[in-house]
Parts: sequence; C-alpha cells; structure tokens
Amino acid sequence: MLLLVPFAAYSADPFQLHSNGRIWEYTGTPCSGDSCPGWRMLDNNPRTVAIAAGLSRQPGGGRPRPIRRELYQLHNDGAIWRYTGTPCSGSSCPGWEKLDNNPNTRTIVAAADRLYQLHNGGDIWRYTGTPCSGSSCPGWEKLDNNPNTRTIVAAADRLYQLHNNGEIWRYIGPACGATSCLGWQLLDNNPITRAIVAAGDDLYQLHEGGAIWRYTGTPCTGSSCPGWQRLLGAVDNPDNGTISIVGLDFAGSNSQLYMFSYDGGMAGNNLPIVSLRRYTGPPCSGNSCPGWEELDLNPSTVAISDTAANRVTTQYLHVSRFDSATLPSPVLSNADVDRILSDAGNLLQNNDGTGDVSCNMAFARSGDVTTFTTGNGNINSGPDYDAVVGLAGNVKVVNRINWCSVLRPSFIGCAFGSEHSFVVVRHTTSLEGILWAHEYGHNKGLGHRNNDANALMNQINGNTRTMVNANECAAIRRE
Ligand SMILES: [Zn+2]
Repeated sequence: MLLLVPFAAYSADPFQLHSNGRIWEYTGTPCSGDSCPGWRMLDNNPRTVAIAAGLSRQPGGGRPRPIRRELYQLHNDGAIWRYTGTPCSGSSCPGWEKLDNNPNTRTIVAAADRLYQLHNGGDIWRYTGTPCSGSSCPGWEKLDNNPNTRTIVAAADRLYQLHNNGEIWRYIGPACGATSCLGWQLLDNNPITRAIVAAGDDLYQLHEGGAIWRYTGTPCTGSSCPGWQRLLGAVDNPDNGTISIVGLDFAGSNSQLYMFSYDGGMAGNNLPIVSLRRYTGPPCSGNSCPGWEELDLNPSTVAISDTAANRVTTQYLHVSRFDSATLPSPVLSNADVDRILSDAGNLLQNNDGTGDVSCNMAFARSGDVTTFTTGNGNINSGPDYDAVVGLAGNVKVVNRINWCSVLRPSFIGCAFGSEHSFVVVRHTTSLEGILWAHEYGHNKGLGHRNNDANALMNQINGNTRTMVNANECAAIRRE
C-alpha cells in the first residue's frame, strides 16, 4: 500500500486545515514542548472541506525574493473562497472573498498564483481573476470536459490530469472552445498508474506496486510514451504491509522527492514514521535503484507529516441502489446517504481511545442517489457481483448478498481491494456508517483484523467497532 502525496511545501507550507473547519497560518514561531503559539486562525467555518495554497516568488530582482502566498478554501456546498489577508478577530473571520458557488466542485488545486477546480463530471476550470458578484461568478474558463478525469495536480505554471485509465495529460492550451477542448498533450498511457504529483518543473508518477517514475519531458507519440525515467522499483519499496509516502520539497526552485516508510510504530505525536529517504539520483539501472539516501528523523520531519495528517481528506462517493419494489423500506434517499457518509467520516475522525487514531477522513455524496436495474437485486455469485460492482459509481445498495468470495447467506457488505466500488445491503441505522467505512477500507486494500473486538476492520459488524490504527488510517486516506 502506498501513498503519493505532495507536501505542499516541505519547508514552507504555512497552512493547516483542522477537521472542525478551522484554518491556521504558521507565523514562524515554532512549538515549544506542547505549546505551539506560532499559529493564527484565518477561518473557523465547519463547511470547509479542503484548502489549497499557491506559493510563488514575488517578481522583482531582490534576493531572496519573498514568497507570495495565495490561500483558497473549498466548502462542502462547492463554494470556493480566497483569503484576502485579514486574520480572524475573535470568532469573526472576514478575510475571504467568494470566487465560485458551483455545487459540482470536487477538488481545488493551486500552484503559484493559479487556481484550478475539478468538477464531479470531469470539467476542469481555471480561475481568471474576477471574484463573484452576488450569485454571479464569471471568473472561470474551462480547460477540459472529460468524464474520465480522476484527479488534477499543478505546480508552478503547469497543470496535469490523471485519467481513470492511467493516461496522464499536461495542459498546454488553449482553453476549451465552443465544442471541444484541445489544449492537452498526452504524457503517458499506462493503466497501472495510480497517482501523480508535481513540484517545480517536475512530474512524478506512482505505479500500482510501488514503482516511481519521473517525467523527462518527451510527450507521447501515438501510443508510444518514452518520456519516463524510473527512480524506484516496486521491489525496492518497503511495502511488506507497510505504507510509503512520497513528498516533494517546494523550497527553492527545485523539487525534491522524499519517501516515508511506515511500519505501524508510532513516533512522538502518534505518527507512524519509521524512516525517511530522499532521492538524490541516479535513476534505476536495471533492477538496481541506488539513488536514495537515508535521512535522520528529526523534529521537522514530524512537522511535515503532522501537517499532512491534519488535512482532512474528503472522498466523494456516488451511490446507486437496485431499482426494485422489493427493496427494504425505507428506500435509500439522499438524506440517508448523507447521514451514513457523515457517520462514516465521524467514526474515523473520532479518537475512541487506546488502539484508535483520529483519522482525518470525510465522505460526501457525489450527485443524487441513482438506481440501476442490472441483475435481480441479489448477489448470488461472482458474476452477479462483478456485474453490479462494475456499474458506474462507488456504493451499490442491493437487497441481498449471498456471495462474497464464498456462497453464504446474508452478508451485509462485500468489497475487494484495488477497486473503487463496494456492495452493501440496508442495515441497522446506527451501524450503516460503520458498514460503509469498513467496506471502503477493503477497497483501499485493508484486510480483516479480528483480534481486536473494537476494530473497524473486524469481520463482524458491531456498534463499538469503529477503531482504526495508523496504518489503516493511512490506507483509508489514500487517494
Ligand atoms: Zn469485511
């Protein structure tokens, strides 16, 4: 299991978002013991689900040129806000202007002085500089309209997207015309690509299994995509049940690639870091990838991961149900889904004591609950399962599950790893959030942990079974 996460400034990221919606800015005074006076509050809105910061060098000839910070936040209703520079005074936080109010917004990313958003339908938009006036938000131009877009990343003046089929594209312009969006150049087309990160002029990709590649600047010609250099092989990744994270250093003009290896042990602040390596080159030659230097773990290392771990990851899930009169009453509504997803996020975020970590993960509904007619509402075989889980969307609600690897009556959920979809039946109201979080954990590669009666991943659903350890949290938060 691996994470590929850009640490949006290893040395300079000054912002934190807490799960209660509070946004904090680091003012330069480091913590002393448990006291961390160097943070001031910029906002305290519980609707905030994500922040994005763009860091750029001020123009001009002075050296070193000061860093200019742009900060944006995304609300759970899709609204996007820009920080205008006035911190909170008491509980009043007036320093924000609205840039957009579109409920379809899934993600925002910022780089330098640019801001982009990705919509649930795959549209990509760039902010052109005009904030909203009343309910009119004209300051956006469309760059793409492809429903296959899985994620976007940006660095400096560059924007990339990753498609569900593994294709990686770079935006080179122009923006969409009236009927088509032609401003994209194909950089790779490998179906095992799991994630991309960008920093400075560099673009990296992570493959299923752990290999890491860097883009060397040659785009695809036809279906041939030679512009990639392997920095780490899957066999070199310490991935035996552990989790690695790749980070990038935005300090200075060069990106740097870091890899954190986790093994479930805990560092001083409940973070399971056990080693940190930095890529110094050269790239792999055959099976040998010698370009990694082991670094000492020091307090700043903890601070990096602390920032990343404090960021709430929100996963949008599309939910559909079998369309049948026999579906148990009540029929699944949008409100039901919102409650279940909220419960699932809350149980992950709550720290229930020894053996649990506060896992900054949230879920939100993508679009309305839809219906499907595939099958007969019962999962009685592998083909039944494949047909339903293969439908568009993430959560499939059926009447009965009598097969999940084995034929047995009355499963309440079924999921497998490396998939983006699971199947559940309706269940006791207070347990549905646990059920969905459990199945989502399976989708992220988690197995059962039956030796802990309070573990979320215990095979038997129960109302105290809400605990996740650090490894499980990291897997659940993985994109
Ligand atoms: Zn299970």
